[in-house]
Amino acid sequence: MKGKATWKVYLKSLIWAICVIGIAVLLLYIYIFRTLPASEQTVWKTGKLDLDSYSFPISSNIYSSDGVLLNFPHRMYTKFDDISPYLKLAIVNTEDKRFYEHTGFDPFRILKSLYVDLLSHRYKEGGSTITQQLARNMFLSFKKTITRKLQELALSIMIERYYTKDEILERYMNIIYLGANCYGVGSASLMYFGMPPKGLDLAQSALLAGIIRSPSNYSPFVNMNLAFKRQKMVLNLLLDSKLITKEQYQKALEERGMLELLIRTQKMKMYRWKASYFVQYVKSFLKEKLGLTDYLLSIGGYTVYTTLNYEIQITAEKALSESGRQGGICVLDPDTGYIKAMVGGKSFSENQFNRVTQAKRQMGSAFKPFYYTYALLKGYTPDSKLPNCPKDFNGWEPQNYDKTFSEYIPLQEALIHSVNVPSINLFQKIGVSKVLDFIRTRFHISSHLNYDLSSALGSSSLTPLEVTSAYAMLANGGVYYEAIPLLRVEDRFGRAIYVYHPAPRGYLDDDEKKRIDTTYLVSRILEQVITRGTGINAQIKGIKHIAGKTGTTDNYTDAWFVGYTPHLVCTVFIGNDDNSTLGEGMTGGKVAAPIWKRVMKTALQGMQDEDFPHFNDVITVKICTGSLKLAGKGCPKYKVEEDYFKDGYHFFRVSRVVDMTFIKGTEPTEMCSYHKVKTSEKEEKAVLARYSSALVKYFNFPLSNLSENETPTSLVNRIKMESGEEILSLLRKREIDLDTLLSVFHKMDRDEILKIIKKIGRMDTTLAGKIWNLYKSGW
Ligand SMILES: [Zn+2]
Repeated sequence: MKGKATWKVYLKSLIWAICVIGIAVLLLYIYIFRTLPASEQTVWKTGKLDLDSYSFPISSNIYSSDGVLLNFPHRMYTKFDDISPYLKLAIVNTEDKRFYEHTGFDPFRILKSLYVDLLSHRYKEGGSTITQQLARNMFLSFKKTITRKLQELALSIMIERYYTKDEILERYMNIIYLGANCYGVGSASLMYFGMPPKGLDLAQSALLAGIIRSPSNYSPFVNMNLAFKRQKMVLNLLLDSKLITKEQYQKALEERGMLELLIRTQKMKMYRWKASYFVQYVKSFLKEKLGLTDYLLSIGGYTVYTTLNYEIQITAEKALSESGRQGGICVLDPDTGYIKAMVGGKSFSENQFNRVTQAKRQMGSAFKPFYYTYALLKGYTPDSKLPNCPKDFNGWEPQNYDKTFSEYIPLQEALIHSVNVPSINLFQKIGVSKVLDFIRTRFHISSHLNYDLSSALGSSSLTPLEVTSAYAMLANGGVYYEAIPLLRVEDRFGRAIYVYHPAPRGYLDDDEKKRIDTTYLVSRILEQVITRGTGINAQIKGIKHIAGKTGTTDNYTDAWFVGYTPHLVCTVFIGNDDNSTLGEGMTGGKVAAPIWKRVMKTALQGMQDEDFPHFNDVITVKICTGSLKLAGKGCPKYKVEEDYFKDGYHFFRVSRVVDMTFIKGTEPTEMCSYHKVKTSEKEEKAVLARYSSALVKYFNFPLSNLSENETPTSLVNRIKMESGEEILSLLRKREIDLDTLLSVFHKMDRDEILKIIKKIGRMDTTLAGKIWNLYKSGW
């Protein structure tokens, strides 16, 4: 009886207990559900946890236009079969030995871990199964509350219900953090060993598996010794579990020296990752234009196609770093605005400040072409006279570089030789505000410009990027394109979310003909900066149409060279971050131009040597700088016209014959009357006349074909310089008549003549034979 009553009491208590526990579980269930994030509530309701539709976090890839991956893939997805069996073994054995045995969760482990968590109020990773770790990594925050722990358990059970062990392990191995910003074994394997995870051996696998518990401590990039201590521990566990043999164990330990070396090399490489400044710029661009933050990029699996040309980029990076100087290089396609190369400094790992996009620096004379362009648009011509006398500009007495003055200097020569005083005079004459407004709006300069005369000498500070964009307008006939680093962005499913179509954003002048012809004139003048001005260090053999300008600021603080061909613009800026001097005599021509040359030699490979675009007919004539009229026979190569001191100033001016390009009809038509033809030249003319009958006989070329401006003496040098092919083409185009050619031969020695005939012979044997016979017969 007593026993029965006791039994009844027990039963009653048990029912009560079941009820209480049932209600508690129900409440807990509701509580867990209610506190889950919305996305997981859906999962919960439908009862189906679809891991495949879950957008697995993978990093975005940024490619150069020639297909080189520029960023490191910090999150990759690697399929189960593409992961080394050693790695799977090492991870499972270390993190969750009974993973393949337990069904969803390990009750003993859970109780233990709950106890530990509650006791320490701290999350201990060791307490969780692989499935739990996966659930936490995929769905839950790392907050260490009892609720989260229970949610984690619940999700684990669901994951185990729908997925096989291998599927779970695959996802786990792709989501765990392994240090050095790498998520997943694919990324980590590439980071630490430079290889995909399929081929990892036991030693490498054990090293990776050892990192999981605490990547910030155990990554070999952080602490090599600790990493290998962990590796040994993992290997010991494998040996204890009889999963590897003693020999395998021993061999893995012996690999340490080699592995360390490999890891150190990898670490060095990571610091020199490809086009770092450019990639950083692309990222800021993506954030600004598309709202793609670094975080979204790091998990969103986007594919970003950029405008960068990897070969030019690498050449530019090397050129700057080997120069040992600080600065920036920017290469732009003037037809689209595409950024082909961008080097923001000599070392990204040392300093991430991008000197192409962020540094604002004084340009010195490299600023001058902007307002010379304006002057030419407003009716000035290359032969316009600019005053070059000492002058007080409201208390400012600017100096020319060589400290000499002259009464005047032609506009073209002032720009080619970067003479300050006539430039300031021009700047003042055309109107300081007007011209600066023009530069700001038409050349699209957004940096602050100093609205005073000092801007004539480049006192305003600009970024190399805006300078490059502005010069691009001189290369392409006056069309403004925004500098752009991106071609296309695709989401993880290959859908384009951004496509760039280059389109003009403005023009130098509303009159198309005028802007094209004006920029042509500017380019022709700037070509001579390279052939005989401050930019001779930028000459590239075999390419004629290179225009450019140097810039040097006071105390040799900034050195610039901006140069372009019709289809490529490159800016090289050199300068210390603290604005200290680069050293006495370190001009743009000396420091920046050689770097420019190195970059452009690579960049121009395979490109045609094309003339700049122009609209109307143009003409290049020989001008005597003494009279600014057409050069005659008597005009000198170099003659001092002024050399005296007045009021303490040195006046010095020479006459020389120079090439000037004009829009046809605007060129001078009168011959120079300053310089009389000398007798000796008259004699040379007589020499030509002596051979004229022979020429008429053999080649049917009358003497009247002789060019007015060309003297036999000047031609000797020309022909010595030029190759046989060019002479031949001149002959064919009738630009040089044979009369002149033969008179030149007459002044040469036998060896030189033979050399030229040989060259011609390679292309036109008949013509060469005729000349040879003529020569043998004593002309
Ligand atoms: Zn003359």
